[in-house]
Amino acid sequence: MAKKTIITAAVTGAWPKKENNPNVPITPSEIADDVYACWKAGAAIAHLHMRDSDGNGTMSTEKFQETTALIKDRYPDCDIIINLTTSGDIHADDDLRLAHIEKLKPEMASYDCGSMNWLHSGLFINSPAFLERCGNLFQKLHVKPEIEAFDPGMIANAAYYLKKGVLKAPLHFQFCMGCANGITGSVKTLLFMKETMEQLCPGSTWSCFGVGHSSMEILYAALALGGHIRVGMEDNVMYAKGTLADSNAQFVKRAVRVIEEYGNETATPDEARQILSLA
Ligand code: ZN
Repeated sequence: MAKKTIITAAVTGAWPKKENNPNVPITPSEIADDVYACWKAGAAIAHLHMRDSDGNGTMSTEKFQETTALIKDRYPDCDIIINLTTSGDIHADDDLRLAHIEKLKPEMASYDCGSMNWLHSGLFINSPAFLERCGNLFQKLHVKPEIEAFDPGMIANAAYYLKKGVLKAPLHFQFCMGCANGITGSVKTLLFMKETMEQLCPGSTWSCFGVGHSSMEILYAALALGGHIRVGMEDNVMYAKGTLADSNAQFVKRAVRVIEEYGNETATPDEARQILSLA
């Protein structure tokens, strides 16, 4: 049987605005429509952020609720796995970062396993107290953490929380490659992330993405190294050098083509649930 590769669609993130690419979805309605289009194209997981009326990232529980309800009501056939961010606004406090998780109990949510400078402009704080609280809450609600690692130290930190019981095996990692202040995005650095994970957290699954110009190198390397894939406008507004992306689905369609040319198959949401030990 061909190996199954999971595609995560990260459709909006917290930063790209219509000025950067007019096709970035901003409103709950636009985000819901894009999630459906990505699912139709082959995505198994939708990683979601929300935006306020000015297009800035927000952790508004109401926006998360409105968007997830729209996906359900407008597209009842869509069985995509919903993965909600806990890091959509660096100014949100710990309570607000978890309020929508407590209310909506998504199948997955992001777990950023350390602190760092953010885009050379602010601080992205994930304090020990927050990580303990977040991990314990996820276990209680049966929310699968997607452990975002921006550098190898965050993988070591995940191993620490695994040992402490705050996180439970099997872990699932998202290697965030080429972000400002994080690890650079290349085949060499991705291999190091994968080997560090295998050494410290054996039995884990992993996915990755590269922002900006590292995106294609990371996409092909992920397949070659046996990982899963994330694409979408949270990570890239350009489809290729000098060409803005038409839509999130355009990225998903390319990922499907690359997966199939490689000889793998794109995982359905239910196959992804099995691979990630959800539910
Ligand atoms: Zn995100």
